[in-house]
Amino acid sequence: MKIAIIGAGFSGLSTAFFLSQEKSVEIDVFYTNKNTECASRVSAGLMHPYIGKSAKRSLFATEGMQKTMHLIDVAERELGEKVADTSGVFRIALTEDVKQTLDGYTQEYMDIEKVDPKTVPFLQVEVHGAYFIKNGVTIFPEKYLNGLLKVCKKRGVKFVERKITDIAELTQYDQILVATGAQIQQVLPEINLPIKFMKGQVLRCKLPGGITLKHSIVGSGYMAVSVDPKYCYLGSTYERDVTSKIDMELAKSLIFEKVEGYLTLPTGLEVTDCFMGVRALRKGHYLPLIGKVDNIWFITAMGSRGLLYHGLVGEIVSNAILHDADVKIPKQMRWVP
Ligand SMILES: Cc1cc2nc3c(=O)[nH]c(=O)nc-3n(C[C@H](O)[C@H](O)[C@H](O)COP(=O)(O)OP(=O)(O)OC[C@H]3O[C@@H](n4cnc5c(N)ncnc54)[C@H](O)[C@@H]3O)c2cc1C
Repeated sequence: MKIAIIGAGFSGLSTAFFLSQEKSVEIDVFYTNKNTECASRVSAGLMHPYIGKSAKRSLFATEGMQKTMHLIDVAERELGEKVADTSGVFRIALTEDVKQTLDGYTQEYMDIEKVDPKTVPFLQVEVHGAYFIKNGVTIFPEKYLNGLLKVCKKRGVKFVERKITDIAELTQYDQILVATGAQIQQVLPEINLPIKFMKGQVLRCKLPGGITLKHSIVGSGYMAVSVDPKYCYLGSTYERDVTSKIDMELAKSLIFEKVEGYLTLPTGLEVTDCFMGVRALRKGHYLPLIGKVDNIWFITAMGSRGLLYHGLVGEIVSNAILHDADVKIPKQMRWVP
């Protein structure tokens, strides 16, 4: 079976990895090398179950975390180095509602515990509560994606840097997967999907000498550890104007307003870079959307949970493609025309 995958972000690479376990398939992955067309490359890398304003535990969080951890392990074995910080993530409750929600989870789940706010670096103590997500992870996206790509290449997956603008260019393939994230309409303009788009900008900042960030901190926005301990990321914006232009001044004002609402950032912190990407989000739900029309499959709407879901979705879609059976897609994620 010949399979074309369009997109080499979290979704495309994860699916390529699972498909490549099957020796009888031939896989070609098409991608563009523009960072602004690949949200995965600019992602801050945060993964934990308590995402979003309300901090409610995401559906399929346990399964999603397990699959992504497996892929992290695969990438680390391939590269022989760490592609993620797995030491845990602080989650801050900035409202009474979030505090109550997270207090409830500390009774129900082993992965989250309440901590003294004074133990969280940079935190202003007047918050409703502070928690430590023990299995929270901060992935280093470039390294992680490169690790996965290398494994896929070793298994015979071919990578072709080529922008696909018309799916008819790929008639020689038995199955086609469109995993172009927010660029889905470029490739599948005729399918009307219940999705919306949100631009995100993130700031890369140099920490003043001698200061390091041990664990990422998530509240309203976040301060995230980076692959280089001298730097951290502050993020992110949610902008309705989805132009691909980077506007660092706007990003600074939106992000600092959020983050300085609960963190006292170290004096001398220097913003060095700003990155942008566009998220596709499903209208009315946060789960990804997976669909099929004839021999064309698609994955989109990973929203802000790309890391939590891409491993799980990659495996599900790989199985569905190999058996040519979209019934293998959980109905909560399945697109119904
Ligand atoms: C600023 C920002 C911060 C974020 N932080 C986090 C975070 O901390 N944690 C988290 O879980 N999520 C985060 N996200 C969301 C996450 O990045 C996305 O959910 C995820 O990247 C979506 O992955 P994807 O593979 O579906 O799409 P993408 O990563 O966008 O990949 C699309 C791929 O398709 C290719 N492509 C596009 N068009 C074409 C074409 N016409 N022809 C060929 N190839 C094409 C691109 O080159 C790319 O390889 C963040 C997003 C942004 C913007």
